[in-house]
Amino acid sequence: MVELEDLDGVGPTTAEKLREAGYDSVESLAVATTGELMEAAELGMRVAVRVINSARDAAKMGYETATEVLERRKHIGRIRTGSASLDRIIGGGIETQALSEVFGEFGSGKSQLAHQLCVNAQLPPEEGGLGGKAIYIDTENTFRPERIEQMARAVGLEPGRVLDNIYVARACTTDHQVLLAGKAADLAKQGDVRLIVVDSLTSLFRTEFCGRGALAERQQRLARHLAELHKLAELHDLAVFVTNQVQARPDVFFGDPTRPVGGHVLGHSATARIYLRKSKANTRVANLVDHPGLPPESATFQIVEAGIRDPD
Ligand code: ADP
Ligand code: MG
Repeated sequence: MVELEDLDGVGPTTAEKLREAGYDSVESLAVATTGELMEAAELGMRVAVRVINSARDAAKMGYETATEVLERRKHIGRIRTGSASLDRIIGGGIETQALSEVFGEFGSGKSQLAHQLCVNAQLPPEEGGLGGKAIYIDTENTFRPERIEQMARAVGLEPGRVLDNIYVARACTTDHQVLLAGKAADLAKQGDVRLIVVDSLTSLFRTEFCGRGALAERQQRLARHLAELHKLAELHDLAVFVTNQVQARPDVFFGDPTRPVGGHVLGHSATARIYLRKSKANTRVANLVDHPGLPPESATFQIVEAGIRDPD
């Protein structure tokens, strides 16, 4: 393994400062920005650039062959949703090393799906899970442990243990939300977190940055938040699942929230966008939108006491 001290421009003192600031691996430096490093480790700009470039070389973050990409993608894990037809259109479940977004109107089932994934992430792989823990960042106060208990029982897991394996935090402001994503990194470093939910990704950004004048800043801050979530997905091989409530056409209001404006070095992560619509009674229609490798198909599922399921 390459240590920080092996990098060009990093002596023992700098390595110490970097670790204190939370950069404890070559990978974490490879995805850092120059400004971040200058501030965190009191480096000059030239040194910061040298450190990042050297970390990118060491972490092989330049070009790689398609064979290497294929090899890495073989390790992608998937969390099943509870509905086989929904799983089919998204390629077998919500992927790790990627950020998936579900968008739709109020009541379309976004939070229900998020709850189900927190339970299913804990199932063993042969049952469609990843045997890991989940983190739930709740901005709308809609996380319900009682619902988790119901869903856990329905898949034969012990409800108390399932609740113990979900870290929940309520975010009240966008600053708080961003901070919680940072703290999620600390939890993820301990290893067994396989899913991070942000429900909702956008609601606080919408209320805090309203009006035309605030649009640019909102997009910028949201892009930074998303880039950080992408980093988490890549560095810790976990699935990031975000919800986004829309009234009518999301693109008109928002641009594409899963494509950060400034661009980021993690652009190769697969990104699924799922559009949910209410249908008759408890059924919902999901459409896969803009997937880099799958056709835009639709699936129907239902929300029942047991959770997300195929229609009868
Ligand atoms: P949103 O997209 O706004 O997050 P939700 O995920 O909260 O929407 O979905 C709400 C829907 O889920 C409601 O239509 C509600 O009837 C359904 N629902 C919630 N709990 C249950 C349950 N225990 N059994 C059946 N349906 C439920
Ligand atoms: Mg919701």
